[in-house]
Amino acid sequence: MRAAVLIDEGEAADAIVVRDEPMPEPGIGQVRVRIDHAALNHLDVWIRRGLPSVPKPRIMGADGTGVIDAIGEGASVQLAVRGLSNGDRVVLDPGSSCGACRACAAGDTSLCAQFQVLGEHVAGTHAEAVVVGVTAVHAAPAHLAAPEAAALMLTFATAWRMLFTRAQVRPSERVLVWGASSGVGTAALQLCRAAGIETIATTRGADKVDAIRELGADHVVVTGSGDDLGDRVVAAVEELTDGEGVDVAFDHLGKVAWEPSMLALRRGGRYVTCGASTGPMPRAFITRLFWKQLSMLGSTMASRTDVEDLLAFVQRHELVPRVDSTFALDDVAAAHRHLESGSQVGKVVLRVGAG
Ligand SMILES: [Zn+2]
Repeated sequence: MRAAVLIDEGEAADAIVVRDEPMPEPGIGQVRVRIDHAALNHLDVWIRRGLPSVPKPRIMGADGTGVIDAIGEGASVQLAVRGLSNGDRVVLDPGSSCGACRACAAGDTSLCAQFQVLGEHVAGTHAEAVVVGVTAVHAAPAHLAAPEAAALMLTFATAWRMLFTRAQVRPSERVLVWGASSGVGTAALQLCRAAGIETIATTRGADKVDAIRELGADHVVVTGSGDDLGDRVVAAVEELTDGEGVDVAFDHLGKVAWEPSMLALRRGGRYVTCGASTGPMPRAFITRLFWKQLSMLGSTMASRTDVEDLLAFVQRHELVPRVDSTFALDDVAAAHRHLESGSQVGKVVLRVGAG
């Protein structure tokens, strides 16, 4: 099968080669999925750059969709219980866990010490086939075309956990969404709109404002990229909330967003983050933390419960992930460069195999 394989980490996207790899066979409790569309995430770029460093060669990719085409020993009953069988179109939960520890028993699988991510710890989805545990496959929402289904899981499940499991956002609350044109940012806007939650979105350039509004942002703050980026956001939030501040700051940018978030949050507000793409070491600002009684929340990927809740919500509200662009698997390096350019709104998707 053809697969995008990381052979050597590096700044340049051509550290990834597309080559023939052996067709994987499902083991006990596993199924094989013939991938036809797979999405890129910033996680792929970080892994390519060696942050974190993974064993190589490594088939990359955390997100994908395709049809089940081989079932390992002991997996068919579990598939049938979940209403799935050979030939069904599925989406993949990018995370897997040991299934036996206290976190797993409680359904909070993303807290498992053995938590693994497709394309990072095990062979991923940027290939014509992937083998996963039977619990990782879920019926693809029927209202989604294949490229949209490929774009769904990592960002929407991550945003779901951040908003509803970690920050416990409620209708009538206001959420500040940093870097709203990203995959996780657009997912947050769509989830909030469907849930009746008001959003203030930030974006660097005015060119993305229309797309961000269309996805559900109630207000958009164009920040530019200078040192006073944070000040502009704090001032805009103050004006839009009559000086009260937002209930939740939703972040994946890290350093540039930390301090302005603490200023923009109301007393008792919550900051939740899944990333630090602008840097991991902001000033701690502990006085602000205790005086305003803020909660700083970390979030990584999603648990099995989050994924199930998300899929039910996506189907009920017929949410459609925004696909920015589609590249052939052979052009995976160009797809990485496009994602790194930051010019996209929504997800970058790969066409794989017959797809
Ligand atoms: Zn576990």
